[in-house]
Amino acid sequence: MDATQGSLIELCEKIERLAQFQDKVEPPSDPARIWSVFLQDARALVAVEASALFLVEETSQEFVIDRAEPETLRAAFQREIDLQIEVGVFPVVLQRRQPSITPALGFGREWSIVLLPLATGRRTLGMAALLTPLQESALTLENMRLLGVLARQCSLVMENAVLYERLLREKESLEEANRRILYLSQRDALTGCFNRGYMNEQLPREIRRAARYRRALSLALCDLDHFKGINDARGHLCGDRVLKEFVATTLDLIRTDSDWMARYGGEEFLLVLPETSLANAIRLAERLRTHIAGKAFACEGDSFAVTASFGVVGLDAGDVPKGLTAEALLHQADEYLYRAKKKGRNRVVGGPPSF
Ligand code: GH3
Ligand code: MG
Ligand code: MG
Repeated sequence: MDATQGSLIELCEKIERLAQFQDKVEPPSDPARIWSVFLQDARALVAVEASALFLVEETSQEFVIDRAEPETLRAAFQREIDLQIEVGVFPVVLQRRQPSITPALGFGREWSIVLLPLATGRRTLGMAALLTPLQESALTLENMRLLGVLARQCSLVMENAVLYERLLREKESLEEANRRILYLSQRDALTGCFNRGYMNEQLPREIRRAARYRRALSLALCDLDHFKGINDARGHLCGDRVLKEFVATTLDLIRTDSDWMARYGGEEFLLVLPETSLANAIRLAERLRTHIAGKAFACEGDSFAVTASFGVVGLDAGDVPKGLTAEALLHQADEYLYRAKKKGRNRVVGGPPSF
């Protein structure tokens, strides 16, 4: 075998290796995997001391460094690319879509930088930058062209992987936004507890569930006492603070895994207590009442007491009739609340429904 034959065989092997690129990064492959296969193949053609992948950022259309190997050279590569843009090499490489080898301006005389545009017929994805100790003249035209082929191979699979990753990110942020919208749509903006809309949707479900599985269910309707007076004496903002504080305190005292609280009206709140008997619901309401009454509320350095009245209606296990409506049960709770107010406020009145 003579020398020409030997180098021909070597060339064929290099081409074969490049031809296998797509097989090695079979989808679903992420940009990181593609990049690592790309670097392996590039190393067969040129000595690579360090490398960086730049991707075009979608909104700004700027080349942003995606990864560097080693990571410690990230800033150095960013600086290098800024210099290459300044002297005009980078734009020319992009325009011609041809690889280039040029002195590395930021790394020192002994280094060169190989720039490989990553682009498909549809879009420019980015740029691969390889730091090499080879001088410009030492890189053969043949290897340079093979690097160009490798970059095109890489671009084809990288395009899909990058788009797929972006799509996943967008999907995630959309899902996050949806979760946030759902959360906000169910919450009262001032106090953060559930709102009336959520209550209207959820309470009938709780009633149906209790009826079907013969479970207990209780409601406690609570209304702050003489709240108008707090607003009048201390201002509406102070009133708002009291409402927030009242909700936070109550939520601290209930089992939020099953019990829930909704703002029923201005200073009126509904506690829904699934699997809670009437006696237990009254005990809980009493505990809330004493806790609230004993708490020092404060606004602008001034501390004062707040009380609340509770109307509790409860149905023990097996007592929830089929077809019981939320309106009927709420009406009963309201009756008990009315009695608590009439009896002098700051108290709990409760009982079974009277139907
Ligand atoms: P009672 O003991 O009989 O319940 O007397 P009350 O003063 O608490 O009841 P009333 O219904 O007369 O007044 C309720 C007040 O709650 C009037 C209303 O301005 C106030 N309010 C309703 N929503 C809010 C709110 O979001 N923030 C503030 N600061 N006040 C509110
Ligand atoms: Mg009130
Ligand atoms: Mg009220």
